[in-house]
Amino acid sequence: MEIKRFEKKVYLSSPTMHGDELKYMQEAYETNWMSTVGANINEIERLMAEKIGCKDAVALSCGTAALHLAIKLAGERLYGQPKVGHGSLEGKKVFCSDMTFDATVNPVAYEGGEAVYIDTERDTWNMDPKALEKAFEIYPDVRLVVIAHLYGTPGKIDEIKEVCDKHGALIVEDAAESLGATYKGKQTGLFGDYSVISFNGNKIITGSSGGMFVTNSVEDAHKVRKWSTQSREDAPWYQHEELGFNYRMSNVIAGVVRGQIPYLEEHIAQKKAIYERYKEGFKDLPVTMNPFDEKNSEPNYWLSCILIDKDAMCRHVRGEKEALYISEPGKSCPTEILEKIAAINAEGRPIWKPMHMQPIYRMNGFVTATGNGRARSNAYIKETGFEDVGSDIFDRGLCLPSDNKMTPEQQDVIIEVVKRCFV
Ligand SMILES: *Cc1c(COP(=O)(O)O)cnc(C)c1O
Repeated sequence: MEIKRFEKKVYLSSPTMHGDELKYMQEAYETNWMSTVGANINEIERLMAEKIGCKDAVALSCGTAALHLAIKLAGERLYGQPKVGHGSLEGKKVFCSDMTFDATVNPVAYEGGEAVYIDTERDTWNMDPKALEKAFEIYPDVRLVVIAHLYGTPGKIDEIKEVCDKHGALIVEDAAESLGATYKGKQTGLFGDYSVISFNGNKIITGSSGGMFVTNSVEDAHKVRKWSTQSREDAPWYQHEELGFNYRMSNVIAGVVRGQIPYLEEHIAQKKAIYERYKEGFKDLPVTMNPFDEKNSEPNYWLSCILIDKDAMCRHVRGEKEALYISEPGKSCPTEILEKIAAINAEGRPIWKPMHMQPIYRMNGFVTATGNGRARSNAYIKETGFEDVGSDIFDRGLCLPSDNKMTPEQQDVIIEVVKRCFV
């Protein structure tokens, strides 16, 4: 096969519009509902609650805002309403997914709490329930757990819930990447005491930005709507009893989301086809795809990733902002593959760097399934070369171009480029 640079860039995951988005935005314009009230907002809240199978959904400016209010709700339920100027989690530790995007965990810090990171398992690349159990042994006072479903793959929900129930802990579920994915036939977004989705530009469907708080509690939905619109009381003037936020979604953005919702299933089917084409294309290579629980879950296949076999890794090092590798016959590494993909004008990305490795969170607690504190057992370290699962997946894994506008022909070229890295 001749490898030619793509004229038009193939993205990791970019917005895919269908036409109705413009119609609903225009409707907002023509009826002058250009603010944070209007038919688009009402309609997407109804549609998403129906899709997920929950009582209510609150449209917000972004997934991060939704996570902030979800975590604040959990904090106030656990520890009471804080004084103004104080967070609801002040002085409290919170168990958090380690391999995720930082938006999952930053709101813990917004509320004055301290994240303790829980290592990852290998079956779904999400929070390891065994490490979570271990964390409750080390920090028995913790009452809040924040979990994410990485790359659209549901985590070990039953096992996580069992550990949380045993210790009386609440769950905030970050389903930002996993909209439409199911676990035992139920949508992600239904499993947390507080759950969140995102319509960021790179997600499975998008409003260009936007997010939602999804819930079965009418009371919580009411509270989040109020907090997100500056906590205005029902009075003739601006009356405030609680701290407010300007987190509500615009009716224009909601128009984009409204146009996208009917295409969620189509996007998932396209992403699934991409995942399966990679899987088939790589079947003779020393790599595996990002795994999921085939018996109990159906991901939304948001991003396709690969993990390189340990003995097929060439030598490489990563500093804080740069990476170097030494090319070797028959072997490769994420940096080499990403470089070769970029050379044909396609976009891949390293695995999300685990939170416990991030300079900002390096002093936070980190718990693995074996061994206390940050480290695993000596035997584990000797076998894998790593202290934990997350850093190993970060070391050997990468996200491939997963855009649903990528053609099968383009994907075949990308597959060929990856193959040649192992020649
Ligand atoms: C995108 C993302 C978010 C944040 O959503 P925004 O809408 O961009 O604020 C949170 N968590 C995860 C895991 C995400 O991927």
